[in-house]
Amino acid sequence: MLRSVGKRLLDSVAQVQRRAIHASSAHLAAISGVPPEGKVSSTPNAKYTVIDHEYDVVVVGAGGAGLRAAMGAAEAGFKTACVSKLFPTRSHTVAAQGGINAALGNMTEDDWRWHMYDTVKGSDWLGDQDAIHYMCREAPRAVYELESYGLPFSRTEDGKIYQRAFGGQSLKYGKGGQAYRCACAADRTGHAMLHTLYGRSLAFNTTYFIEYFALDLIMDGDGRCVGITALNMEDGTLHRIHANNTVLATGGYGRAYFSCTSAHTCTGDGNAMVLRAGLPVEDPEFVQFHPTGIYGAGCLITEGCRGEGGILRNAEGERFMERYAPTAKDLASRDVVSRAMTMEIREGRGVGKEKDHLFLHLDHLPPDLLAERLPGISETAAIFAGVDVTKEPIPVLPTVHYNMGGIPTNHFGEVIAPKKKADGSLDPDHVIPGLFAAGEAACASVHGANRLGANSLLDIVVFGRATALRIADIAKPGDKVPPMPADAGQRSVEDLDKVRFASGSTNTATIRKKMQKTMQEHAAVYRTQDSLAEGKVKIDEVLSTWQDLKVTDRSLMWNTDLIESLELRNLLSNAATTMYAAEARKESRGAHAREDFSERDDANWMMHTIADFDYDTHKTTISYRPVHKHTLDENEVKPVPPFKRVY
Ligand SMILES: Cc1cc2nc3c(=O)[nH]c(=O)nc-3n(C[C@H](O)[C@H](O)[C@H](O)COP(=O)(O)OP(=O)(O)OC[C@H]3O[C@@H](n4cnc5c(N)ncnc54)[C@H](O)[C@@H]3O)c2cc1C
Repeated sequence: MLRSVGKRLLDSVAQVQRRAIHASSAHLAAISGVPPEGKVSSTPNAKYTVIDHEYDVVVVGAGGAGLRAAMGAAEAGFKTACVSKLFPTRSHTVAAQGGINAALGNMTEDDWRWHMYDTVKGSDWLGDQDAIHYMCREAPRAVYELESYGLPFSRTEDGKIYQRAFGGQSLKYGKGGQAYRCACAADRTGHAMLHTLYGRSLAFNTTYFIEYFALDLIMDGDGRCVGITALNMEDGTLHRIHANNTVLATGGYGRAYFSCTSAHTCTGDGNAMVLRAGLPVEDPEFVQFHPTGIYGAGCLITEGCRGEGGILRNAEGERFMERYAPTAKDLASRDVVSRAMTMEIREGRGVGKEKDHLFLHLDHLPPDLLAERLPGISETAAIFAGVDVTKEPIPVLPTVHYNMGGIPTNHFGEVIAPKKKADGSLDPDHVIPGLFAAGEAACASVHGANRLGANSLLDIVVFGRATALRIADIAKPGDKVPPMPADAGQRSVEDLDKVRFASGSTNTATIRKKMQKTMQEHAAVYRTQDSLAEGKVKIDEVLSTWQDLKVTDRSLMWNTDLIESLELRNLLSNAATTMYAAEARKESRGAHAREDFSERDDANWMMHTIADFDYDTHKTTISYRPVHKHTLDENEVKPVPPFKRVY
């Protein structure tokens, strides 16, 4: 008895001490920079506590893009908030394996113009060449900046940053053979990058709102973005973060599909916030399938494996990529390899009992090399496929991996949307004041119809930084924030309340699975008119079941049922715009492969899709805007003219 009282006492002392440590200002500063502060507002809805905050800049997302943007803005003296539903180092960037492209020339001679040529070709001429020019030119600077922050890159014998071969990368404008351009930290590059960026970002006075779920943009009557609304997932308070400049860096929406390499949190929230604000997304039909997801589990096996010498083989043991891409072979662009694999399976040369996947061989490579350069995937293959990569092949299948489309921006990271001018003509590049986007959520568009491996880690740091630079160019710290409309956030609270108390008969997981299966079946590697038309009908049916949603948990503290439902609402609009845009595009380009329109059609289709989604009626509307075929400066680099894309 005495002992148990004593133990309780000790426990409570320990608890008090633990709490005291957590509440200490030093600890708070370490995990969250400047602690958030705000004042309770006259609530737009009596049921909820609403707290108002004012900042120069609010960044939504703390992956590579969000951290780099927030850091840049804070460094330039702006009062900056960074809102993230995840603790920063849990963002999907952490999972990136292969590396980051930059023409450093550490392994062979290299030139950023060759990198640009490969990126334009990889994009199948849907990429905006001014933005690609900017990204490839800035790439070496971005990598050296990361090195100076302490990113532990793998090294060559003489101490330079090691660079591996990656898909779609060539020397001398496609004529000089394979390029070695992908800088990496073994096969854990994203992990190294995210931790480095987070550590570095704490040197600046950013205020982190960690585990806050951003709900909606706040737009004023002039079409300017003046901040966001967010839910504190810990205590259920609502927050209006009133800001001069809002940056969306919320990542992709891989989870619209049944099998994907993305984290469960990749639900396209920023894209959906933009759609709810009456602004469009761009090119959603371009969804990348990575050739090597582990069969069954879907986890990624990096392209770096093939960069280090890995080979794909079919049931006959044949290195089939030699037939589809005689020069680049296993290192052809991802869309090309994924299609080749799909053809092999269709023609009966798949492996396994059901002949429905293929083998990636690493077992011919030296075990030392596997241990040094690919330790992460060796472990992943053992856990998820039960395979010892030094002895057996890994069973693989193309798996959804990346969204080329997203929130349209120019190369400064400013969000754009086509708008009618006073004279009735259309401005396809109209800038939405106060709103920026960067990273996988954005469509700059540097990846066009198909992203090259290792160009996304590059995109997130280059454009994260670009948004901060642009904000510093057009605004000053402490500028007066335009007033919020009187009813700012009202709709957001009403929508949240509706979801929280939804009392239909279909639970979130059921609707989500239907959506994922529909996307997997109808917006797949190969697409046809019939299948896409049916996909549209089916996705509309799934959308209609939203009215019948059942949420069982009514609480406001760590209500995962509520958060998953809000994420599903976001995924649904991303899924619908993807399906509708895919049905509308009658050509094959990059990742969008139509069996009924098997060629690229530049005369009619070299243009970006612009997709709007009405949340009240669930209707998607499709229109188009021209591709930027010019570079930033023709004296520096000329545009790459279109030609047939072969590898
Ligand atoms: C397994 C895997 C491996 C990859 N490997 C490579 C590679 O080797 N090289 C390469 O170039 N690319 C790679 N990619 C792609 C690349 O990693 C991603 O495109 C990139 O990291 C995305 O970064 P991001 O900052 O845009 O978004 P993320 O890292 O996904 O971060 C999104 C952030 O937004 C926040 N957020 C989202 N919604 C909300 C909301 N409603 N409220 C508040 N916060 C929100 C999240 O908390 C998170 O902090 C890989 C991708 C995957 C899935």
